[in-house]
Amino acid sequence: MATYEEVVNLAVRRSLFYPASEIYANAPAGMYDYGPYGSAIRRKIVETWRKHLVQKEDFLEIDGALIMPEDVFKASGHLTNFNDPVTQCKKCNVIHRADKLLEEKTKEQYREAMPAAELTAALRKHKLTCPNCKGELSDVRQFNMMVKADVGVSAKASCYLRPETCQSIFADWARMVKTMRVKLPKGVSQYGKVFRNEISPRQTLLRQVEFSQIESEVFFDPSKIDEIARWAEVKNYKIHVQLANKTTVEPMTAEKLASAKIVSGKLIAYYLARTQQLFERFGIPVSKMRFRQLDDTERAFYAKEGWDFEIQTSLGWVELAANNYRTDYDLKGHQEGSKKDLSFVMEDGRRFIPHIWEISIGLDRTFYAALELAYHDDKDKERTWLSLAPALAPLHAGVFPLLSNKPELVKKAEEVYESLRESFEVTYDQSGSIGKRYARLDEIGVPFCITIDFDSLTNNDVTLRERDTGAQKRVKISELNNVLAQSLYGKKA
Ligand SMILES: [Zn+2]
Repeated sequence: MATYEEVVNLAVRRSLFYPASEIYANAPAGMYDYGPYGSAIRRKIVETWRKHLVQKEDFLEIDGALIMPEDVFKASGHLTNFNDPVTQCKKCNVIHRADKLLEEKTKEQYREAMPAAELTAALRKHKLTCPNCKGELSDVRQFNMMVKADVGVSAKASCYLRPETCQSIFADWARMVKTMRVKLPKGVSQYGKVFRNEISPRQTLLRQVEFSQIESEVFFDPSKIDEIARWAEVKNYKIHVQLANKTTVEPMTAEKLASAKIVSGKLIAYYLARTQQLFERFGIPVSKMRFRQLDDTERAFYAKEGWDFEIQTSLGWVELAANNYRTDYDLKGHQEGSKKDLSFVMEDGRRFIPHIWEISIGLDRTFYAALELAYHDDKDKERTWLSLAPALAPLHAGVFPLLSNKPELVKKAEEVYESLRESFEVTYDQSGSIGKRYARLDEIGVPFCITIDFDSLTNNDVTLRERDTGAQKRVKISELNNVLAQSLYGKKA
Protein backbone atom coordinates (compact mmCIF):
# COMPACT_ATOMS: atom_id res chain seq x y z
CA MET A 1 0.00 0.00 0.00
CA ALA A 2 1.33 3.40 -0.93
CA THR A 3 1.90 5.99 1.77
CA TYR A 4 0.35 9.43 1.64
CA GLU A 5 3.84 10.93 1.17
CA GLU A 6 4.60 8.68 -1.81
CA VAL A 7 1.37 9.70 -3.50
CA VAL A 8 1.96 13.42 -2.92
CA ASN A 9 5.57 13.12 -4.11
CA LEU A 10 4.46 11.49 -7.32
CA ALA A 11 1.69 14.06 -7.80
CA VAL A 12 4.06 17.00 -7.38
CA ARG A 13 6.86 15.37 -9.45
CA ARG A 14 4.49 14.81 -12.38
CA SER A 15 2.53 18.05 -11.83
CA LEU A 16 -0.74 16.21 -11.19
CA PHE A 17 -1.41 18.71 -8.39
CA TYR A 18 0.78 21.18 -6.49
CA PRO A 19 0.35 24.23 -4.25
CA ALA A 20 -1.40 27.16 -5.94
CA SER A 21 0.65 30.35 -6.51
CA GLU A 22 3.70 28.38 -5.39
CA ILE A 23 6.24 30.87 -6.77
CA TYR A 24 5.06 33.32 -4.06
CA ALA A 25 6.30 32.65 -0.56
CA ASN A 26 3.22 34.13 1.12
CA ALA A 27 0.60 32.13 -0.83
CA PRO A 28 -2.06 30.96 1.64
CA ALA A 29 -2.33 27.27 2.46
CA GLY A 30 -5.27 25.14 1.40
CA MET A 31 -5.35 25.77 -2.33
CA TYR A 32 -4.02 23.52 -5.08
CA ASP A 33 -3.59 23.72 -8.84
CA TYR A 34 -4.03 20.68 -11.07
CA GLY A 35 -1.52 20.34 -13.91
CA PRO A 36 -2.26 19.04 -17.42
CA TYR A 37 -2.55 15.31 -16.58
CA GLY A 38 -4.02 15.88 -13.12
CA SER A 39 -6.78 18.01 -14.56
CA ALA A 40 -7.36 15.36 -17.25
CA ILE A 41 -7.84 12.66 -14.58
CA ARG A 42 -10.05 14.99 -12.56
CA ARG A 43 -12.14 15.84 -15.64
CA LYS A 44 -12.60 12.13 -16.31
CA ILE A 45 -13.88 11.55 -12.78
CA VAL A 46 -16.46 14.26 -13.49
CA GLU A 47 -17.34 12.76 -16.89
CA THR A 48 -17.78 9.28 -15.39
CA TRP A 49 -20.02 10.72 -12.66
CA ARG A 50 -21.97 12.73 -15.24
CA LYS A 51 -22.54 9.70 -17.47
CA HIS A 52 -23.51 7.22 -14.78
CA LEU A 53 -25.03 9.20 -11.91
CA VAL A 54 -26.52 12.13 -13.84
CA GLN A 55 -27.43 11.18 -17.41
CA LYS A 56 -28.35 7.52 -16.84
CA GLU A 57 -30.53 8.58 -13.89
CA ASP A 58 -32.25 11.29 -15.97
CA PHE A 59 -31.11 13.97 -13.54
CA LEU A 60 -30.93 17.63 -14.56
CA GLU A 61 -27.53 19.26 -14.36
CA ILE A 62 -27.15 22.97 -13.65
CA ASP A 63 -24.14 25.25 -13.30
CA GLY A 64 -24.80 27.89 -10.65
CA ALA A 65 -22.98 31.08 -9.69
CA LEU A 66 -20.24 30.81 -7.06
CA ILE A 67 -21.29 34.03 -5.36
CA MET A 68 -24.67 34.15 -3.65
CA PRO A 69 -26.38 36.79 -1.47
CA GLU A 70 -26.41 36.65 2.31
CA ASP A 71 -30.14 35.86 2.43
CA VAL A 72 -29.48 32.44 0.88
CA PHE A 73 -27.21 31.55 3.78
CA LYS A 74 -29.53 33.05 6.37
CA ALA A 75 -32.22 30.70 5.05
CA SER A 76 -29.88 27.69 4.86
CA GLY A 77 -28.62 28.26 8.42
CA HIS A 78 -24.97 28.66 7.39
CA LEU A 79 -24.56 32.13 8.88
CA THR A 80 -25.47 30.90 12.32
CA ASN A 81 -24.45 27.23 12.25
CA PHE A 82 -21.48 26.87 9.91
CA ASN A 83 -18.82 27.42 12.54
CA ASP A 84 -15.56 25.97 13.74
CA PRO A 85 -14.63 26.37 17.40
CA VAL A 86 -11.32 28.23 17.64
CA THR A 87 -8.86 29.36 20.29
CA GLN A 88 -6.09 31.91 19.79
CA CYS A 89 -2.63 31.88 21.31
CA LYS A 90 -2.15 35.04 23.41
CA LYS A 91 1.59 35.00 22.75
CA CYS A 92 2.09 34.15 19.05
CA ASN A 93 -1.51 34.95 17.93
CA VAL A 94 -1.87 31.74 15.91
CA ILE A 95 -5.46 30.45 15.73
CA HIS A 96 -6.14 26.75 16.39
CA ARG A 97 -9.18 24.49 16.13
CA ALA A 98 -10.11 23.89 19.77
CA ASP A 99 -11.76 20.50 19.12
CA LYS A 100 -8.71 19.26 17.17
CA LEU A 101 -6.26 20.32 19.91
CA LEU A 102 -8.37 18.44 22.44
CA GLU A 103 -8.57 15.37 20.23
CA GLU A 104 -4.81 15.27 19.77
CA LYS A 105 -4.21 15.64 23.50
CA THR A 106 -6.91 13.30 24.85
CA LYS A 107 -7.41 10.91 21.87
CA GLU A 108 -11.14 11.35 22.48
CA GLN A 109 -13.72 12.65 20.01
CA TYR A 110 -14.83 16.27 20.47
CA ARG A 111 -17.73 17.52 18.39
CA GLU A 112 -17.39 20.80 16.49
CA ALA A 113 -20.93 21.54 17.61
CA MET A 114 -20.04 21.39 21.31
CA PRO A 115 -20.80 24.73 23.03
CA ALA A 116 -17.78 27.06 23.24
CA ALA A 117 -17.96 27.23 27.04
CA GLU A 118 -17.68 23.43 27.33
CA LEU A 119 -14.70 23.36 25.00
CA THR A 120 -13.06 26.19 26.99
CA ALA A 121 -13.58 24.21 30.20
CA ALA A 122 -12.01 21.14 28.57
CA LEU A 123 -9.00 23.17 27.38
CA ARG A 124 -8.43 24.39 30.95
CA LYS A 125 -9.00 20.98 32.50
CA HIS A 126 -6.40 19.34 30.26
CA LYS A 127 -4.05 22.33 30.76
CA LEU A 128 -3.61 22.84 27.00
CA THR A 129 -1.18 25.45 25.70
CA CYS A 130 -0.26 26.63 22.19
CA PRO A 131 1.40 23.73 20.30
CA ASN A 132 3.73 26.22 18.58
CA CYS A 133 5.03 28.29 21.50
CA LYS A 134 3.43 26.91 24.69
CA GLY A 135 1.67 30.28 25.10
CA GLU A 136 -1.63 30.70 26.93
CA LEU A 137 -4.77 29.99 24.88
CA SER A 138 -7.82 32.27 24.72
CA ASP A 139 -11.38 31.19 25.52
CA VAL A 140 -13.00 29.26 22.68
CA ARG A 141 -15.16 31.22 20.25
CA GLN A 142 -17.13 30.20 17.17
CA PHE A 143 -15.53 31.16 13.86
CA ASN A 144 -17.84 31.28 10.84
CA MET A 145 -16.35 29.39 7.88
CA MET A 146 -18.11 31.33 5.13
CA VAL A 147 -15.81 33.26 2.76
CA LYS A 148 -17.14 36.77 2.24
CA ALA A 149 -17.09 38.31 -1.24
CA ASP A 150 -16.96 42.06 -1.83
CA VAL A 151 -19.18 42.56 -4.83
CA GLY A 152 -20.15 45.74 -6.67
CA VAL A 153 -20.16 49.26 -5.32
CA SER A 154 -23.76 49.70 -4.20
CA ALA A 155 -23.41 47.25 -1.28
CA LYS A 156 -27.06 46.36 -1.82
CA ALA A 157 -26.54 42.96 -0.24
CA SER A 158 -23.63 41.22 1.41
CA CYS A 159 -22.42 38.25 -0.60
CA TYR A 160 -20.54 35.05 0.10
CA LEU A 161 -18.72 32.42 -1.91
CA ARG A 162 -20.86 29.31 -1.63
CA PRO A 163 -19.71 26.70 0.91
CA GLU A 164 -21.57 23.88 -0.91
CA THR A 165 -23.05 23.49 -4.38
CA CYS A 166 -26.49 22.39 -3.23
CA GLN A 167 -27.83 25.83 -2.26
CA SER A 168 -28.18 26.91 -5.90
CA ILE A 169 -29.93 23.61 -6.62
CA PHE A 170 -32.50 24.46 -3.93
CA ALA A 171 -32.76 28.07 -5.10
CA ASP A 172 -33.31 26.91 -8.72
CA TRP A 173 -35.82 24.17 -7.87
CA ALA A 174 -38.99 26.14 -8.61
CA ARG A 175 -37.60 27.19 -12.00
CA MET A 176 -36.76 23.57 -12.84
CA VAL A 177 -40.31 22.53 -11.98
CA LYS A 178 -41.77 25.30 -14.11
CA THR A 179 -39.56 24.92 -17.18
CA MET A 180 -38.26 21.33 -17.25
CA ARG A 181 -41.49 19.29 -16.96
CA VAL A 182 -40.31 17.70 -13.73
CA LYS A 183 -41.86 14.49 -12.42
CA LEU A 184 -40.86 13.14 -9.01
CA PRO A 185 -38.50 11.66 -8.10
CA LYS A 186 -36.10 13.98 -9.91
CA GLY A 187 -32.44 14.64 -9.24
CA VAL A 188 -30.76 17.97 -9.90
CA SER A 189 -26.97 17.81 -10.10
CA GLN A 190 -24.11 20.20 -10.07
CA TYR A 191 -20.33 20.12 -10.45
CA GLY A 192 -18.43 23.11 -9.16
CA LYS A 193 -16.19 24.95 -6.76
CA VAL A 194 -16.97 25.67 -3.13
CA PHE A 195 -15.13 27.62 -0.43
CA ARG A 196 -14.67 27.10 3.29
CA ASN A 197 -12.48 29.16 5.54
CA GLU A 198 -10.61 26.23 7.09
CA ILE A 199 -8.54 27.24 10.12
CA SER A 200 -5.97 24.56 9.46
CA PRO A 201 -6.02 23.24 5.88
CA ARG A 202 -3.97 20.08 5.76
CA GLN A 203 -3.27 16.86 3.92
CA THR A 204 -3.28 18.59 0.52
CA LEU A 205 -6.49 17.64 -1.30
CA LEU A 206 -8.21 16.26 1.80
CA ARG A 207 -8.85 19.55 3.60
CA GLN A 208 -8.79 22.61 1.40
CA VAL A 209 -10.18 26.13 1.46
CA GLU A 210 -11.21 25.93 -2.19
CA PHE A 211 -12.40 22.60 -3.54
CA SER A 212 -14.98 21.01 -5.83
CA GLN A 213 -18.09 18.96 -5.36
CA ILE A 214 -20.03 16.70 -7.68
CA GLU A 215 -23.41 16.66 -6.12
CA SER A 216 -26.99 15.55 -6.71
CA GLU A 217 -30.13 16.41 -4.78
CA VAL A 218 -32.95 13.98 -5.45
CA PHE A 219 -36.38 15.56 -4.90
CA PHE A 220 -39.10 13.06 -4.04
CA ASP A 221 -42.56 12.50 -2.62
CA PRO A 222 -42.06 11.04 0.89
CA SER A 223 -45.26 9.01 0.56
CA LYS A 224 -43.66 7.25 -2.44
CA ILE A 225 -40.22 6.57 -0.99
CA ASP A 226 -40.65 2.85 -1.81
CA GLU A 227 -41.57 3.42 -5.47
CA ILE A 228 -38.45 3.14 -7.57
CA ALA A 229 -38.79 2.36 -11.28
CA ARG A 230 -35.44 0.60 -11.72
CA TRP A 231 -35.42 -1.25 -8.39
CA ALA A 232 -34.89 -4.62 -10.08
CA GLU A 233 -31.48 -3.44 -11.34
CA VAL A 234 -30.07 -2.97 -7.83
CA LYS A 235 -32.11 -5.07 -5.44
CA ASN A 236 -29.62 -7.95 -5.30
CA TYR A 237 -26.57 -5.70 -5.41
CA LYS A 238 -24.56 -5.80 -2.19
CA ILE A 239 -23.87 -2.50 -0.48
CA HIS A 240 -21.01 -2.34 2.02
CA VAL A 241 -22.50 -0.86 5.18
CA GLN A 242 -21.26 -0.34 8.69
CA LEU A 243 -24.22 0.09 11.01
CA ALA A 244 -24.02 2.75 13.73
CA ASN A 245 -23.75 0.19 16.54
CA LYS A 246 -21.19 -2.04 14.76
CA THR A 247 -17.46 -1.92 14.20
CA THR A 248 -17.34 -4.11 11.10
CA VAL A 249 -18.45 -3.70 7.50
CA GLU A 250 -21.15 -6.04 6.18
CA PRO A 251 -22.20 -6.48 2.55
CA MET A 252 -26.01 -6.24 2.46
CA THR A 253 -28.30 -6.32 -0.55
CA ALA A 254 -30.36 -3.25 -1.35
CA GLU A 255 -33.43 -5.44 -0.81
CA LYS A 256 -32.30 -6.31 2.73
CA LEU A 257 -31.56 -2.67 3.63
CA ALA A 258 -35.06 -1.69 2.55
CA SER A 259 -37.03 -4.68 3.88
CA ALA A 260 -35.29 -4.63 7.29
CA LYS A 261 -36.01 -0.86 7.47
CA ILE A 262 -32.31 -0.08 7.95
CA VAL A 263 -32.91 2.74 5.46
CA SER A 264 -36.06 4.88 5.32
CA GLY A 265 -37.13 3.38 1.98
CA LYS A 266 -36.16 1.76 -1.32
CA LEU A 267 -35.26 5.10 -2.86
CA ILE A 268 -32.41 5.46 -0.39
CA ALA A 269 -31.13 1.88 -0.86
CA TYR A 270 -31.30 2.46 -4.62
CA TYR A 271 -29.07 5.54 -4.51
CA LEU A 272 -26.64 3.99 -2.03
CA ALA A 273 -26.22 1.19 -4.58
CA ARG A 274 -25.77 3.63 -7.49
CA THR A 275 -23.22 5.61 -5.50
CA GLN A 276 -21.17 2.52 -4.64
CA GLN A 277 -21.33 1.40 -8.30
CA LEU A 278 -19.99 4.79 -9.37
CA PHE A 279 -16.93 4.36 -7.15
CA GLU A 280 -16.39 0.90 -8.62
CA ARG A 281 -16.24 2.59 -12.03
CA PHE A 282 -13.49 4.83 -10.64
CA GLY A 283 -11.46 1.63 -10.17
CA ILE A 284 -11.76 1.55 -6.38
CA PRO A 285 -12.18 -2.01 -5.00
CA VAL A 286 -15.43 -2.58 -3.11
CA SER A 287 -13.39 -4.14 -0.29
CA LYS A 288 -12.02 -0.64 0.45
CA MET A 289 -15.46 1.00 0.66
CA ARG A 290 -18.06 1.44 3.34
CA PHE A 291 -21.19 3.45 4.00
CA ARG A 292 -20.94 4.37 7.66
CA GLN A 293 -24.33 4.90 9.25
CA LEU A 294 -24.34 8.11 11.27
CA ASP A 295 -25.82 7.99 14.73
CA ASP A 296 -27.91 10.75 16.36
CA THR A 297 -24.87 12.66 17.61
CA GLU A 298 -23.13 12.74 14.23
CA ARG A 299 -25.99 13.62 11.91
CA ALA A 300 -26.64 17.20 10.85
CA PHE A 301 -29.65 18.48 12.78
CA TYR A 302 -31.87 18.55 9.67
CA ALA A 303 -30.96 15.02 8.53
CA LYS A 304 -33.33 12.18 9.26
CA GLU A 305 -30.82 9.62 8.07
CA GLY A 306 -27.18 9.88 7.02
CA TRP A 307 -24.44 7.63 5.62
CA ASP A 308 -20.86 8.74 5.15
CA PHE A 309 -19.30 7.01 2.18
CA GLU A 310 -15.70 6.28 3.13
CA ILE A 311 -12.63 4.74 1.49
CA GLN A 312 -9.85 2.98 3.33
CA THR A 313 -6.54 4.74 2.62
CA SER A 314 -3.08 4.88 4.21
CA LEU A 315 -4.49 7.70 6.39
CA GLY A 316 -7.36 5.54 7.62
CA TRP A 317 -10.97 5.77 6.48
CA VAL A 318 -11.52 9.02 4.56
CA GLU A 319 -14.99 10.41 3.88
CA LEU A 320 -15.54 10.99 0.16
CA ALA A 321 -19.30 11.50 0.01
CA ALA A 322 -22.09 12.59 2.32
CA ASN A 323 -25.43 10.85 1.78
CA ASN A 324 -28.19 12.58 3.69
CA TYR A 325 -31.95 12.39 3.94
CA ARG A 326 -32.49 16.15 4.29
CA THR A 327 -36.31 15.90 4.43
CA ASP A 328 -38.05 19.19 3.49
CA TYR A 329 -35.67 21.28 5.59
CA ASP A 330 -33.96 23.09 2.69
CA LEU A 331 -36.96 23.97 0.56
CA LYS A 332 -38.94 25.06 3.62
CA GLY A 333 -36.08 27.31 4.70
CA HIS A 334 -35.77 28.87 1.25
CA GLN A 335 -39.54 29.22 0.96
CA GLU A 336 -39.54 31.26 4.16
CA GLY A 337 -36.40 33.19 3.24
CA SER A 338 -37.45 34.07 -0.31
CA LYS A 339 -41.23 34.33 0.28
CA LYS A 340 -41.69 32.26 -2.90
CA ASP A 341 -43.84 29.15 -3.10
CA LEU A 342 -41.52 26.14 -3.49
CA SER A 343 -44.17 23.45 -3.17
CA PHE A 344 -44.79 20.84 -5.83
CA VAL A 345 -48.22 20.10 -7.28
CA MET A 346 -48.99 16.52 -8.28
CA GLU A 347 -51.26 15.69 -11.22
CA ASP A 348 -54.05 14.90 -8.75
CA GLY A 349 -53.73 18.38 -7.25
CA ARG A 350 -51.94 17.33 -4.08
CA ARG A 351 -49.49 20.04 -3.01
CA PHE A 352 -46.44 19.49 -0.78
CA ILE A 353 -42.80 20.39 -0.25
CA PRO A 354 -40.67 17.58 -1.72
CA HIS A 355 -38.19 15.71 0.43
CA ILE A 356 -34.54 15.50 -0.58
CA TRP A 357 -31.98 12.71 -0.72
CA GLU A 358 -28.51 14.17 -1.10
CA ILE A 359 -25.46 12.54 -2.75
CA SER A 360 -22.64 15.01 -2.16
CA ILE A 361 -19.27 13.79 -3.45
CA GLY A 362 -15.98 15.55 -2.76
CA LEU A 363 -14.20 15.61 -6.11
CA ASP A 364 -10.69 16.35 -4.86
CA ARG A 365 -10.84 13.68 -2.16
CA THR A 366 -12.08 11.21 -4.75
CA PHE A 367 -9.13 12.20 -6.94
CA TYR A 368 -6.72 11.57 -4.05
CA ALA A 369 -8.28 8.19 -3.19
CA ALA A 370 -8.23 7.06 -6.84
CA LEU A 371 -4.56 8.01 -7.06
CA GLU A 372 -3.55 6.29 -3.82
CA LEU A 373 -5.39 3.07 -4.62
CA ALA A 374 -3.90 3.01 -8.13
CA TYR A 375 -0.35 3.60 -6.89
CA HIS A 376 1.97 0.62 -7.36
CA ASP A 377 5.68 0.22 -7.26
CA ASP A 378 8.25 -2.46 -7.80
CA LYS A 379 11.26 -1.42 -5.75
CA ASP A 380 13.54 -4.08 -7.36
CA LYS A 381 12.82 -2.81 -10.84
CA GLU A 382 12.62 0.81 -9.65
CA ARG A 383 9.30 1.12 -11.39
CA THR A 384 6.23 3.09 -10.24
CA TRP A 385 2.90 3.11 -12.02
CA LEU A 386 -0.70 4.20 -11.53
CA SER A 387 -3.10 1.41 -12.46
CA LEU A 388 -5.93 3.86 -13.13
CA ALA A 389 -9.16 2.50 -14.59
CA PRO A 390 -9.25 3.19 -18.37
CA ALA A 391 -12.12 5.63 -17.76
CA LEU A 392 -9.85 7.80 -15.58
CA ALA A 393 -6.55 7.51 -17.47
CA PRO A 394 -5.35 10.98 -18.58
CA LEU A 395 -4.30 9.59 -21.97
CA HIS A 396 -4.91 6.27 -23.69
CA ALA A 397 -1.47 5.67 -25.14
CA GLY A 398 1.96 7.06 -25.94
CA VAL A 399 3.62 6.55 -29.32
CA PHE A 400 7.43 6.40 -29.56
CA PRO A 401 10.05 5.73 -32.21
CA LEU A 402 12.56 3.32 -30.59
CA LEU A 403 15.45 5.58 -31.65
CA SER A 404 14.91 9.28 -32.22
CA ASN A 405 17.94 9.71 -34.49
CA LYS A 406 16.58 7.41 -37.22
CA PRO A 407 14.40 9.51 -39.57
CA GLU A 408 12.62 6.44 -41.00
CA LEU A 409 11.48 5.38 -37.47
CA VAL A 410 10.42 8.92 -36.58
CA LYS A 411 8.39 9.16 -39.79
CA LYS A 412 6.64 5.86 -39.20
CA ALA A 413 5.95 6.73 -35.54
CA GLU A 414 4.44 10.07 -36.55
CA GLU A 415 2.18 8.26 -39.03
CA VAL A 416 0.97 5.86 -36.33
CA TYR A 417 0.42 8.76 -33.94
CA GLU A 418 -1.66 10.64 -36.52
CA SER A 419 -3.73 7.53 -37.31
CA LEU A 420 -4.72 7.16 -33.62
CA ARG A 421 -5.46 10.79 -32.75
CA GLU A 422 -8.95 10.76 -34.20
CA SER A 423 -10.25 8.01 -31.88
CA PHE A 424 -7.90 8.14 -28.89
CA GLU A 425 -6.09 10.54 -26.61
CA VAL A 426 -2.45 9.91 -27.45
CA THR A 427 0.88 11.60 -26.94
CA TYR A 428 4.03 11.43 -29.05
CA ASP A 429 7.42 11.34 -27.35
CA GLN A 430 10.86 10.87 -28.86
CA SER A 431 13.07 12.34 -26.14
CA GLY A 432 15.23 10.28 -23.78
CA SER A 433 15.75 6.55 -23.45
CA ILE A 434 12.82 4.25 -24.10
CA GLY A 435 12.88 3.31 -20.38
CA LYS A 436 12.47 6.96 -19.33
CA ARG A 437 9.62 7.39 -21.81
CA TYR A 438 7.83 4.35 -20.35
CA ALA A 439 8.39 5.64 -16.81
CA ARG A 440 6.91 9.07 -17.57
CA LEU A 441 3.66 7.56 -18.84
CA ASP A 442 3.48 4.76 -16.24
CA GLU A 443 3.62 7.34 -13.46
CA ILE A 444 0.62 9.26 -14.78
CA GLY A 445 -1.37 6.09 -15.44
CA VAL A 446 -1.34 5.82 -19.26
CA PRO A 447 -2.45 2.23 -20.06
CA PHE A 448 -0.42 1.62 -23.25
CA CYS A 449 2.88 2.48 -24.90
CA ILE A 450 3.35 1.86 -28.61
CA THR A 451 6.90 1.58 -29.95
CA ILE A 452 8.01 1.65 -33.57
CA ASP A 453 11.29 -0.19 -34.30
CA PHE A 454 13.11 -1.46 -37.40
CA ASP A 455 10.87 -4.52 -37.69
CA SER A 456 7.91 -2.15 -37.91
CA LEU A 457 9.24 -0.86 -41.23
CA THR A 458 9.18 -4.26 -42.90
CA ASN A 459 6.28 -5.92 -41.02
CA ASN A 460 3.97 -2.91 -40.55
CA ASP A 461 3.55 -3.72 -36.88
CA VAL A 462 4.40 -2.15 -33.52
CA THR A 463 5.20 -3.23 -29.97
CA LEU A 464 2.23 -2.65 -27.67
CA ARG A 465 3.30 -2.50 -24.02
CA GLU A 466 0.80 -2.78 -21.19
CA ARG A 467 1.28 -0.49 -18.18
CA ASP A 468 0.47 -2.74 -15.21
CA THR A 469 2.39 -5.87 -16.24
CA GLY A 470 4.95 -4.41 -18.62
CA ALA A 471 3.95 -7.24 -21.01
CA GLN A 472 4.65 -6.58 -24.68
CA LYS A 473 3.15 -7.95 -27.87
CA ARG A 474 3.38 -7.25 -31.58
CA VAL A 475 0.28 -5.77 -33.20
CA LYS A 476 -0.29 -4.99 -36.90
CA ILE A 477 -0.68 -1.24 -37.47
CA SER A 478 -3.89 -1.94 -39.38
CA GLU A 479 -5.29 -3.67 -36.26
CA LEU A 480 -4.09 -1.11 -33.71
CA ASN A 481 -7.33 0.91 -33.53
CA ASN A 482 -9.38 -2.21 -32.85
CA VAL A 483 -6.96 -3.68 -30.33
CA LEU A 484 -6.87 -0.44 -28.34
CA ALA A 485 -10.65 0.01 -28.44
CA GLN A 486 -11.14 -3.58 -27.33
CA SER A 487 -8.74 -3.15 -24.39
CA LEU A 488 -10.04 0.25 -23.31
CA TYR A 489 -13.77 0.02 -23.95
CA GLY A 490 -14.34 -3.72 -24.47
CA LYS A 491 -15.50 -3.13 -28.05
CA LYS A 492 -14.08 -2.59 -31.52
CA ALA A 493 -13.35 0.89 -32.89
ZN1 LIG B 1 1.58 30.36 20.34
